[in-house]
Amino acid sequence: MAMNIQSIASLPDRINQIRLLTAEIVNKEILPNENTLWRFYRDGTVSESEIAEARELRGHIKDRVKEAGLWAPHLPEEYGGCGLTFLEHAYMNEVLAYATGAAALFGVVAPNSGNQKILLKYGTEEQRKKWLVPLTEGKMESGFSMTEPDNAGSDPRSIKTTARREGDEWVINGHKWFTSNGSRSDFLIVMCRTDDPEGPAERNGKMTQIIVPTDTPGVNIVRDIEVWGRIGGHAEVIYEDVRVPLENQLGQTGSGHAAAQDRLGAGRVYHCMNSVGQMWRAFDLMVERAQNREVHGGLLAEKQFVQGFIADSYIDIQSSRLMTLHCAEQMESGADARTAISAIKISVPEAYTRVVDRAIQVWGAAGVTGDLPLSAMYQGARILRIADGPDEVHKILIAKNVLKQYRSGDGWDFGN
Ligand SMILES: Cc1cc2nc3c(=O)[nH]c(=O)nc-3n(C[C@H](O)[C@H](O)[C@H](O)COP(=O)(O)OP(=O)(O)OC[C@H]3O[C@@H](n4cnc5c(N)ncnc54)[C@H](O)[C@@H]3O)c2cc1C
Repeated sequence: MAMNIQSIASLPDRINQIRLLTAEIVNKEILPNENTLWRFYRDGTVSESEIAEARELRGHIKDRVKEAGLWAPHLPEEYGGCGLTFLEHAYMNEVLAYATGAAALFGVVAPNSGNQKILLKYGTEEQRKKWLVPLTEGKMESGFSMTEPDNAGSDPRSIKTTARREGDEWVINGHKWFTSNGSRSDFLIVMCRTDDPEGPAERNGKMTQIIVPTDTPGVNIVRDIEVWGRIGGHAEVIYEDVRVPLENQLGQTGSGHAAAQDRLGAGRVYHCMNSVGQMWRAFDLMVERAQNREVHGGLLAEKQFVQGFIADSYIDIQSSRLMTLHCAEQMESGADARTAISAIKISVPEAYTRVVDRAIQVWGAAGVTGDLPLSAMYQGARILRIADGPDEVHKILIAKNVLKQYRSGDGWDFGN
């Protein structure tokens, strides 16, 4: 089924145009070819000629995206992107996410996309030329190396990887894991402590992100970690006396934590709009199946259990979408959106899990097969509750912000 995208009366023409153009490519070029485009990732029996056919098809779709002026929506034109504003990109994402892997065909591939944003904001002109441009042109791959096996990823202040200054070099030592895309990367952005690792707790200011080419001596990719039974490029990496020039540092010494927050803040809105697009797809699949499948002498759509699934999913999608758009508008206006960001970071992946779970139930056994995108969505939704800060950490932040407001004598203003 094609995604039903119509103009939204309250939105500027440009956003409507972007959504309609995106939907045209998603509906006409990507959805009908979804299984061919990505099948080789999970099916070892695919022949060389089928792999070549899929590559050619992906190239053709990327050309269409570029012709439509929609390539790399997260980057400005001078760095090869199409220069969308934050809101334009957020509204585009719900359409993009409807089809499996569509974002990659529009030049947005995590973690490269997050690294591109960091290079754009914190990189020198030299660094942008050397690392950002080839990333955007698809000539390089990258990873973001922050989480460590021996320390809590939910508390970035606990990071132990160090970068020690020696002459005109940084010398890096540490142990990371879940560096996504790490084993395919040409370079990694590594979060390092640039102060005493045994120092006091409040040391966010003393972290620095440093660009490390993966062929630097001492970068040991120990293994790809299996996630949900698949090897997907999430690398465990040991950095042993890794020497890189001082100019590989991103931004000021000590700006690493702020840069990580920048990366995650806007990223969470994009992730939530992606989740909305995927819920939308799961919903369409569920309703379509309910209208066609006969069980116990009637269509699924006639059973009240299933009608309940449809109604609950409608509510989940609408509330997730409106909360995310409200948060995006707060961010666009420059208001402090930290509470709203934490709220969507928790509630949208939970709603996404519920919607996909119901769609799987309606499809029965077919729901958990590779013939449909539902099982991959289900796994993805579960990961979202851990990655980018686990839910519990965000609940603590919401309560902290609310209590602070009340302590200052004001109630919470839900109208803004
Ligand atoms: C598929 C995948 C891809 C990833 N990609 C990357 C990547 O590219 N780069 C990277 O650096 N990292 C990556 N990560 C790591 C991710 O960011 C971390 O897993 C996440 O930050 C949580 O850290 P942790 O796993 O160390 O959990 P921990 O910090 O050990 O937390 C474990 C659990 O404790 C609970 N918890 C934590 N704090 C509190 C609290 N205060 N109160 C109550 N309960 C609490 C939460 O339920 C949490 O899930 C990825 C993870 C996954 C699963």
